[in-house]
Amino acid sequence: MSHVFPRHCHAANPTAATGDGCFVIDQNGKRYFDGSGGAAVSCLGHSNQRVAQAIKDQLDKLAFAHTGFFTSEPAEALADLLIANAPGDLDRVYFVSGGSEAVESAIKLARQFHIENGEPQRRHLIARRQSYHGNTLGALAAGGNAWRRQQFAPLLVDVSHIAPCYEYAERNADESLADYGHRVAQELEDEILRLGSDTVMAFMAEPVVGATLGAVPPVEGYYTRIREICDKYGVLLILDEVMCGMGRTGHLFACDAEGIAPDILCIAKGLGAGYQPIGAMLCSKRIYDTIAAGTGFFQHGHTYLGHPVAAAAGLAVLREMLDNDLPAQVQSRGQYLETQLRRRFGQHAHIGDIRGRGLFWGVEFVADRETKTPFDPSLGLAGKLKKAAFANGLICYPMPGTRDGKNGDHVLLAPPFIATEAELDGALDCLETAMNEVI
Ligand code: PLP
Repeated sequence: MSHVFPRHCHAANPTAATGDGCFVIDQNGKRYFDGSGGAAVSCLGHSNQRVAQAIKDQLDKLAFAHTGFFTSEPAEALADLLIANAPGDLDRVYFVSGGSEAVESAIKLARQFHIENGEPQRRHLIARRQSYHGNTLGALAAGGNAWRRQQFAPLLVDVSHIAPCYEYAERNADESLADYGHRVAQELEDEILRLGSDTVMAFMAEPVVGATLGAVPPVEGYYTRIREICDKYGVLLILDEVMCGMGRTGHLFACDAEGIAPDILCIAKGLGAGYQPIGAMLCSKRIYDTIAAGTGFFQHGHTYLGHPVAAAAGLAVLREMLDNDLPAQVQSRGQYLETQLRRRFGQHAHIGDIRGRGLFWGVEFVADRETKTPFDPSLGLAGKLKKAAFANGLICYPMPGTRDGKNGDHVLLAPPFIATEAELDGALDCLETAMNEVI
């Protein structure tokens, strides 16, 4: 009997034994193509020797030194390399252990910035419906996934949620893409004015929505307008690129494609690529300087901030990414994946939308293509598809539709950046077989 507390108490998961490129291999030797990179984590696949060696080298030198006393070479070097490639005036990096910690840190930094900037009344956070920012209580409060929030609602601070930019489901038939983008961005300004423009501390969003909607990119111009509105009212823009950042969309940072920069940027997953748990919050020079000139102390912190071994892994991952221009490779492989997805599934009676960027794609299922009516969530389609795909040797990331009927079941594909075209074809064969079994 196992003493591990698993994600699902009654699931009998196989034991993952080894990794080989894009494949995870279980204890019986069965190979699974990692079509979701875990949860968009394993961007370099599972056996990158450069990263493994960097971890071993760092362990031989030093495993841990507390950041209350020391900095470390890998943390300094990783911060330098991130900032050299980061958008806008992002200037400082705060290393944590994962995505939720990065988001928690961002929320608290935004609040502290305003206090030290002489505006302590700024305390409201605005985020978006159908978003996911993590499972710790602050991050969960920011997220707009009704199902994940439901039972913890009494523990969550108040956060306003406006509409996401979800063109497939929510654009009116007679509305241009630009008008739609403008309309949903306008919800931010309306909410700021409703709350009182000098009481809002930050707006948080995922540039390409991951875990709740399934790789939904914004329409052109949406983030330009969002940036303008934030600037107009002194509201900080926090972009959560925990899932869509670090090359996943074919740009090192997803917001690079929008031509804007945030005040605070959260990254994780692809930063350590699964080799070590690491996340980071990047903040602008203005925010850092304000705190440095004020209390000189961010009222936050975890034991494993800037962990040297995790930072060494992150540094090796980023060097691998930049030395091999993997974002460009993601763009070309992504075009191949898109073409194949559309060729195979574009006319499928129960596929309503195929959308994404780079190697980050969502396939949304509908009961009726014309009306875009989702399947009844009680059918559990996404879960069945996950099981069938897994049995066929494909790891993909399923997401159930929301119970409010706003979006249907979908499956997220986020394969490793090193996947070959033949491997992607093999993954789509598995997905097609699974779909034929389930739908
Ligand atoms: N933010 C986004 C956009 C995510 O997709 C996730 C995880 O899926 C998180 C935050 C939370 O990250 P973690 O699971 O590492 O805490």
